[in-house]
Amino acid sequence: MSKFDIIAFDADDTLWHCESLFQDTQSRLIEILDQYADHESVQARLHDTEEANIRLFGFGIKGFTLSMIETAIEISDKKISAEDIHEITMMGKAMLDSPLELFDGVDDVLDDLAGRYSLHLITKGDNMDQYNKIEKSDLAHHFQKIDVVLKKDVPTYRDLFAEHQTDPHRALMAGNSIPSDVLPILELGGWGVHIPYYVVASFEQHDDDPVHDRFHRVDRLAKLPDLLQYLEEN
Ligand SMILES: [Mg+2]
Repeated sequence: MSKFDIIAFDADDTLWHCESLFQDTQSRLIEILDQYADHESVQARLHDTEEANIRLFGFGIKGFTLSMIETAIEISDKKISAEDIHEITMMGKAMLDSPLELFDGVDDVLDDLAGRYSLHLITKGDNMDQYNKIEKSDLAHHFQKIDVVLKKDVPTYRDLFAEHQTDPHRALMAGNSIPSDVLPILELGGWGVHIPYYVVASFEQHDDDPVHDRFHRVDRLAKLPDLLQYLEEN
């Protein structure tokens, strides 16, 4: 008998590229604001503004765009030109409109696992933005359940598992963020698999690996089926 009732997946930077888009846009913002402040100051100010705005905007491109504009106005002491504000707005729109780039082999891995497990997608962010990406990805058919949540914390996962009548002890979640995709699941008694992405969002930074026998790491998604087989046999 299998150890797992569900295998849950994060989406951004786990199934497709996402954070690299934010980093590229942020680099352009730093260039635009170069005449007003050094790179580190812009980066720090943007992070603080985003953090303060999360309560109001949640995670997502629209909130990020408003936070870029707010940062630009404040760091330039209100001297930023309408032309620059226009460019920042267009940068946000270009992000929303950009093509989705799936990781190599995602479709095959999900196809393989969907034959053996119930797969869930649990992604955090703006509803419209996340559902647009899910549609662009053409991966929705692999998942029995898809949830877009505002936060990925213990109460959110507990509610989701209760809603789907899933025993968290028989759930495994795979994702690129230790704080969002791994730690809450471990706390609820489930299994957490970290699949690192080469850039980490400032809000998803985590220094130490969890010390836990239900914590695992694979360096890419394609290795998840082998890990699952190992866990089933041991
Ligand atoms: Mg992610």
